[in-house]
Amino acid sequence: MPERILLSVPHMEGHERSFVEQAFESNWLSTVGPHLEAFEQEFARLAGAPAVALSSGTAAIHLGLRLLGVGPGDEIFAPTLTFVASVNPVVYLGARPVFIDSDPATWNMDPQLLRETLTERAARNRLPRAVVVVHLYGQPADLGPILDACAPYDVPVLEDAAEALGTQYQGRQVGSFGHVGTFSFNGNKIITTTGGGMLVARDAGWVCRARFWATQARDPGIGYEHSDIGYNYRLSNVLAAIGRAQLQVLEKRVAQRRAIAFAYRDALADVDGLDFMPQAPYGRHTNWLSVFLVDEKRFGIDRDTLVRSLDEAGIESRPVWKPMHLQSLYASADRVGGGVAADLFRRGICLPSSSSLGADAQQRVIAAVRRARDR
Ligand SMILES: *Cc1c(COP(=O)(O)O)cnc(C)c1O
Repeated sequence: MPERILLSVPHMEGHERSFVEQAFESNWLSTVGPHLEAFEQEFARLAGAPAVALSSGTAAIHLGLRLLGVGPGDEIFAPTLTFVASVNPVVYLGARPVFIDSDPATWNMDPQLLRETLTERAARNRLPRAVVVVHLYGQPADLGPILDACAPYDVPVLEDAAEALGTQYQGRQVGSFGHVGTFSFNGNKIITTTGGGMLVARDAGWVCRARFWATQARDPGIGYEHSDIGYNYRLSNVLAAIGRAQLQVLEKRVAQRRAIAFAYRDALADVDGLDFMPQAPYGRHTNWLSVFLVDEKRFGIDRDTLVRSLDEAGIESRPVWKPMHLQSLYASADRVGGGVAADLFRRGICLPSSSSLGADAQQRVIAAVRRARDR
């Protein structure tokens, strides 16, 4: 039996070990140290905004929403088609999500639907406190129209770019178009620190405040004085060392992920009923995951059958994220539409996309997809 092919695994091949060794040699083995500072500076250069390194992407979203003033009773607009971590922090803060459907052209939050909903809410004096935008699977959301829709009402935007390091909108890394941007270095993302996150904000003062909250909100001075609530959300210097080495190869990782996605697309182009995720014309989709839609009638089998068949062939695949409005957790939440996201969930499949996935493994995936249909 050949080795099992996984969906998206960590890929270390550069300076990760030597940077970690430096951290050990200098004994900077906690949540302060030179790697941490350098990682933030290097990340800020890439993102185009000041940055603070955190223990996870979820922690970054939590602090980001708090920076935007989200509190009990507030409503937050968010795409329904996303991973649950995009919206759980809304609930941590006592607020409620309102789910907006996807644009079929990009799969991200539909800017037109957002605009209409904001207009309608403004008339009822029920504007949301903030809008969370997600760049799904590395596809840039259409930030221009989204920011234009929010600006007249002064509704701030948080970009959840957990899946979108390397993603560009009009030639620039996403994350600093909105007021706050958040990233993840979880083990399955395009680069990883084994676990970690980053928050960026255009306002450097906001980044300082997030760093303060992330380190238990301890007031200046020698006594342990606290006048605000904090968290233990700081990244460790050891993990920042891994992050710095990973950041050096980000462009290579983007090229590798894109090459895998386009190899699948080209090799499966003649297969009826299998459609590649759209690539928005206004930016660079990293194709963090290679995603296709299965049309049961034309392809011959449905998505679930394809997932099972690949599994039997030793290949891990998974459905597109289950929309939030279909989760029992959020069954009672307000929503605007949802049919587009529900259809993408029903038909969407993510194929193995690790940047370390070799040509032979890619061929195995392609052959297994073809065989699944023929059985
Ligand atoms: C991975 C992910 C997160 C959470 O990041 P963690 O670092 O795992 O906490 C948030 N949003 C989206 C869209 C993600 O894919």
